[in-house]
Amino acid sequence: MDLILFISFYLLFTLLITYLSYKKQISWLPTLIISLIFTPVAGFIRYQSVKPIKVYKEARYKCRRCNFYFTDYKEYCPNCEKEGHKIPLRKVYVDMT
Ligand SMILES: [Zn+2]
Repeated sequence: MDLILFISFYLLFTLLITYLSYKKQISWLPTLIISLIFTPVAGFIRYQSVKPIKVYKEARYKCRRCNFYFTDYKEYCPNCEKEGHKIPLRKVYVDMT
């Protein structure tokens, strides 16, 4: 009975730390593996020590014809304009790390 209780708590803390890692936006799979093998305490140490990767959005101007991204705003795609097509650029937000 005590063993079942111990395993239940073990798994509960493992899942809790895995969930915290997921919320912190760090890779949660190594946390899960570390917690299962080296106890949730080790998983918690990993959770505390790993810094999340900062993801931020940046505006880009995308051409829908050649799929090229431009950092500066232009009314028409310069690549396609050389080939005789006037393609207006569309503003998109891309994930930057
Ligand atoms: Zn283009």
